[in-house]
Amino acid sequence: MNKATKAEQYLLERIRRGDEAAWSEFVNRYRGRLLSFARARVSQRADAEDVVQETFIAFIRSLRGYRGDCDVETYLFVLLRRKVIDTYRDKRTTHICLIQDTYDVEGQRTQGDDPFAEIPGPGQTASWYARADEQYSLQRAALADALSELVSGLKNALDFRDLQITELLFYCQLSNKDVAKIMAVRENLVALVKHRSLKQIRKHISKRKLPPEPSGGNFERLLTDLWESQRLSCPKRSTIGSYLLETLEPAWHEYVDFHLNVLGCRFCRANLEDLRSRTTEAGQKQLYARIMESTVGFLSTQS
Ligand SMILES: [Zn+2]
Repeated sequence: MNKATKAEQYLLERIRRGDEAAWSEFVNRYRGRLLSFARARVSQRADAEDVVQETFIAFIRSLRGYRGDCDVETYLFVLLRRKVIDTYRDKRTTHICLIQDTYDVEGQRTQGDDPFAEIPGPGQTASWYARADEQYSLQRAALADALSELVSGLKNALDFRDLQITELLFYCQLSNKDVAKIMAVRENLVALVKHRSLKQIRKHISKRKLPPEPSGGNFERLLTDLWESQRLSCPKRSTIGSYLLETLEPAWHEYVDFHLNVLGCRFCRANLEDLRSRTTEAGQKQLYARIMESTVGFLSTQS
């Protein structure tokens, strides 16, 4: 499954051929949101800029290894997160939502237990291929399908309450009890929504006649990992832009607001910050020049 859009694939093709204008366009497109993401973790602006620059270097050096297992933005965020974790040894960086800093995350991840580990970074390609045996990737693909069907079903029905409940359960991995508290509903309603979602997912998968699902806890684990690494319920960047301009339908506005401010999805908050600061571009020009200078030399080595 290739998650990069047609336009992105075309841009990447041009970059692989060493097209400097394409690389410039790419850096311009992504540097702002990466810097916002880094700045939420690394307090000094200069340090955050260093990490962003290193991320672009890592990206261009590993371009051949990027197969489109997640979209380009998520892949860049993955590389950036790894840089921050490596450089600052900040364990909380495994939390992808602000709300996870406040509530206990179900199953308590141990260190190094990262949903994004599935996504190959530079130098990891070979081992990732070895792990991704055929049966496992079929199950993963079927589950990813089932999950996006679930999410788009809830969105189309404008059932944002159930979407928020499933998001808190599967994206943030909070307990039924905490979800009930945040949503101000009864705990057995949360349990019901969870039961209904799992049933729909299993029904979707059973139609595929796949090998038996991973046993018990592993199934839910794979599900939450997928939800995180595919960012299934994250609004599109253009939707976040409309949120900023306050042009969304009230129900959508409320939902995006919840995702950004109650959940506190770090990826989407980085986009929001970037969209806000696009109007004050001056400060970003310098970083752009730095990135271009340090990466352009790698362009010709790609083919
Ligand atoms: Zn998000």
